[in-house]
Amino acid sequence: MIAMTRICLSLLALLFTAPLNAQDAPADGLDPDTILAFKGLQLLDQRMNAIGFRLVQANTPYCADKAPQTGLLLHDIDQYPDPAVARFALGFDGLVTVIAVAPDSPGAAAGLLPGDDILAINGVRIENIPIDNPVYASEPPEYRRIAAVNDRLEKALTQEDTTLNILRGGEQIPLTVALRQACPSRFQIAVSEDREASANGKIVSVTSRMAEYFLNDDEFAAVIAHELAHNLLHHRDRLDAQEVNRGFFGQFGKSASRIKSTEVEADRLSVWLMANAGYDPQAAIRFWTRYGKEHGKGIFSASTHYRWKKRVALFEEEIEKMAKMEPVNGTYAPPLLTKTD
Ligand SMILES: [Zn+2]
Repeated sequence: MIAMTRICLSLLALLFTAPLNAQDAPADGLDPDTILAFKGLQLLDQRMNAIGFRLVQANTPYCADKAPQTGLLLHDIDQYPDPAVARFALGFDGLVTVIAVAPDSPGAAAGLLPGDDILAINGVRIENIPIDNPVYASEPPEYRRIAAVNDRLEKALTQEDTTLNILRGGEQIPLTVALRQACPSRFQIAVSEDREASANGKIVSVTSRMAEYFLNDDEFAAVIAHELAHNLLHHRDRLDAQEVNRGFFGQFGKSASRIKSTEVEADRLSVWLMANAGYDPQAAIRFWTRYGKEHGKGIFSASTHYRWKKRVALFEEEIEKMAKMEPVNGTYAPPLLTKTD
């Protein structure tokens, strides 16, 4: 799967349309079911952020291109259709809040916590970070500031450790986040009723409906690793350079075979990424078998993807290759990631 999925929290408005029952509502008038839904989404985001961080960190020696990774997932209050609930459930006081902090990350080492508001990056206040840059023009308005803030943080960290001024319980605290390079990509739950995962070159998205389907973190890691592999192998750029149609007409002829070759590569690389991060690569086999049997046709019969039995054979081949190798510092050099630096 490589389709671009817009991270769309405004779908929340469609998902939770139950009328507010005045008897059940807490004193502040917020709908308890919506509060719980926000908390549930945050838990999914925290799991995904932790798994994604572990994958990018563990595979760092094999990524030619690296980027600063903080392990922080930041959200903007404008992403939420109901800001009052977001403030209550997620701890927003201002514009940008920490939603997740990956364990063993620079963000965690700096002492950041979910619910901390980011007030400034190296002394530049969040509201003064320009968002009218043309690079953000393709983003929906409610995603421009978070894109600019993430870019600002990444750029600051490229040069040095970075000070974040945060607001916690009414108190302003400066915290220093250390520079740590790792494989690039960010990770985010996309609210959707469809079971999908996607990679746009920079961000890996897994839908909330898909995330509900995982039995454990190893299965979650299998899907994230597949999408991360698309990003690390620059598949989107490669298909664009080949003028491959990723839409409806991509199901036919040359486009289909080129898309399929990227899918095979992503499957092959995924189990190496998982093993290096300490996830059970057999979980890829277990997950895609269960998913393939239950979902039958769908994407698995499309000309762009192998059926699940063929995919399982790919995973088995790669796991066998690893079994014959001597690990270096507990990790295996994935043949598809050629180190060039
Ligand atoms: Zn894919």
